[in-house]
Amino acid sequence: TRQWVLADPPNSEPIYEGDNATFKLVKTTLPELRNDQVLVKTLYLSNDPAQRGWIQAGVDPERLYVPPVAKNDPMRSYVVSEVIASTSADLEVGQLVSGQSSWTEYDVLDAAAVNLVQTQGGIKATHFIGALGAPGLTAYYGLVDVAGAKAGETVLVSGAAGAVGSTVVQIAKHLVGAKRVIGIAGGEKKCRWVESLGADICIDYKAANFKRQLIDATHGFVDVFYDNVGGEILDLALTRVKRFGRVAACGAISSYNVPGGKGSITNWYEIISNRIEVRGFIIIDAIMAGKVPAIIGKLVEGIQAGKIKLGDESETVKTAKFEEVPKIWSLLFTGGNQGKLVTELKD
Ligand code: NDP
Repeated sequence: TRQWVLADPPNSEPIYEGDNATFKLVKTTLPELRNDQVLVKTLYLSNDPAQRGWIQAGVDPERLYVPPVAKNDPMRSYVVSEVIASTSADLEVGQLVSGQSSWTEYDVLDAAAVNLVQTQGGIKATHFIGALGAPGLTAYYGLVDVAGAKAGETVLVSGAAGAVGSTVVQIAKHLVGAKRVIGIAGGEKKCRWVESLGADICIDYKAANFKRQLIDATHGFVDVFYDNVGGEILDLALTRVKRFGRVAACGAISSYNVPGGKGSITNWYEIISNRIEVRGFIIIDAIMAGKVPAIIGKLVEGIQAGKIKLGDESETVKTAKFEEVPKIWSLLFTGGNQGKLVTELKD
């Protein structure tokens, strides 16, 4: 099989071409199937900003929530794959599964470590790495369990046109019953889409008068800020959170490729003077606490009731050759996706 391995862990922008490239394409032989395993062919790769954190150079592993990807190991990734051979009583050839694999064409996985993908009633295979995968779980868990968002409250969401953010907007407005939802996203087109999902207003952070617009849109301040972006947007948003308000610290994509992190926090004193509760979380917390089935139940209910939309606009599916895998992933960091960014591998 062909695989992309981590050749050189980056501490700034990954390099996608040339001798110093971050990732390298190699050919390797997979191990023989043991009992209760499956040989799978990768159909879809999930593109996640978190993968950037798994390859960062020079981080103390004790400060990471999962072990880093080791140099020369295949680049870890969530996938949807097809079973090609099986030694498991539970999984048959031809079935689709989702789980953790890597940037690989084929893989051998433990049957116990994958989930069966069942497509029905408008739910597609790619949704198992999107609305019904880590992004959907993260959106619900972060908003409801971590931030404790309630009916009648005002919710501000950054990264609002992304996989997590676009789901947060819909859960806030249509499941939680927030009075007002304000999105922040890059560009007019994305903002209008976020509004079509239920945001009362979405503000383009690339616009010249962004700060003024955000202040106007958050008149009276917000109960909850769901942050996917960090940096300067977080810094400004801290000045817009109500006294005793809450921040769900979900992600900080604006800093992932920047040595030292871009946009340091100048408004820290806001947290003190306004008694703002900032809670970081990782979706693994919900998994370990056994909360996944209940959250999936809520998401499926929302989808079936038409409250969470799974239309084509909620994902950006790039059909690509295996050679293009790292470059498609890089689109996450330049806003090249609306909704979930999925790589569909073509032979
Ligand atoms: P997205 O679909 O949101 O993709 C990334 C988006 O981030 C881009 O499309 C872009 O949108 C935006 N972005 C990129 N660079 C910047 C920047 N410098 N400033 C502002 N916005 C930027 O990815 P996900 O929905 O998968 O992830 C969203 C966040 O949630 C990430 O930070 C991720 O790490 C985090 N996360 C956390 C989890 C947890 O357990 N805590 C689990 C899953 C995700 P635009 O065009 O609007 O700029």
